Amino acid sequence: MVEAAYAHHEVLARFVNCDVQPADLADAVRGAVAMGWLGFSLSLPHKQAVLPLLDDLAESAGLIGAVNCVVVGEDRRLTGNNTDGQGFVAALRTRVDPRGQRVVLFGAGGAARAIAVELALAGAAAVRIVNRDAAKAEAIAALLRERIGVDASASAWQGPYAIDEDATIAVNATSVGLAPHADAMLDVEPESLRSDLLVCDVIPNPPETAFLREAARRGATTLDGRWMLVNQAAINLGLWLGLDPDRAVMHEALSAAIGDWRH
Ligand code: NDP
Repeated sequence: MVEAAYAHHEVLARFVNCDVQPADLADAVRGAVAMGWLGFSLSLPHKQAVLPLLDDLAESAGLIGAVNCVVVGEDRRLTGNNTDGQGFVAALRTRVDPRGQRVVLFGAGGAARAIAVELALAGAAAVRIVNRDAAKAEAIAALLRERIGVDASASAWQGPYAIDEDATIAVNATSVGLAPHADAMLDVEPESLRSDLLVCDVIPNPPETAFLREAARRGATTLDGRWMLVNQAAINLGLWLGLDPDRAVMHEALSAAIGDWRH
C-alpha cells in the first residue's frame, strides 16, 4: 500500500517491514535513527512501549497515550503521533462531517480509544462507548469529558445492544470479524441497525464484515476498515515526506494484498 504510493508519485523511498521483539524495541529505534530513516510506523505491542523512547508527542497522541507513527527530525528528535483515529476521521469525512454527530462506539481497546479522541476533537456532539469490560469504556468516556469537554458516556455490553435511537453513527472498533473469524457478528440488536445510520467498521480484513453486511441489508450506509488503514498511512506519508498521496492508488494496492492473503 505504501510502496504503491511511492511508485505512483515517483518517490525514491522504501517502506520496510521489520519484525521487532518487545525486548529489542529500544535498539530498533536507535537503529532507525542511526540509519537515517525519516521515521517509522509501530504496531502492537509497541504502541505504548515506545513512549519513553520519544522526545515529543503530538496532542492527540498524548491524549490517547499511544503512538503508531514516529517522525525522526533533522535534529534526530523523535516525535510520536497517533494517526489511527485521524485515519478513521479522514475516512469518515468522505461520507459525513463528524461535527455534531452522535456516535455509538463498540470496543474500548487501542483502536476505540484513538477513534474516540479524534471524534471528540473533530466536534462530535456525543460519544457512547460500549464494551464488555465497562471499566475500560468508562476510562475513555472520562478522558473525553474531562480533557476534551465532550458529552461522553459508557455502557456495559451485556447481551445484544440496541443502538441508541438518537445515534447517527455506529462504529465497530472491536476485533470481532477479523480473519480468520470472518463470520463473527457483533452482538447488536439487528433491528436497531436503522437505514438512516452510517455504520462503520475498523476491520480491514475481510472488509465486508457480518456487521456491515447486516447494516447494508437494512439500508444503512456503510464504511469499511480499509479506508481507515489507507488514511492513517496517507497521513503518515504527509508527516514523513510532506506527501499528499493518492488514496485510491493505496486502496487498490491494499485490496489486492488482502485478496492475496486470503487465498
Ligand atoms: P485491543 O485488543 O486493544 O481491543 C480489542 C477490543 O475488542 C476490546 O474492547 C475488547 O473488549 C473487544 N472485543 C474482543 N472480542 C470481543 C467480543 N467477542 N465481543 C465484544 N468485544 C470484543 O485491539 P485494538 O483496539 O488495537 O484493535 C481492534 C481491532 O481494530 C483489530 O481487529 C484491528 O485489526 C483493528 N484496527 C484497524 C485499524 C485500521 O486502520 N483499519 C487500525 C488499528 C486497529 P474487552 O475490553 O471487553 O475485552
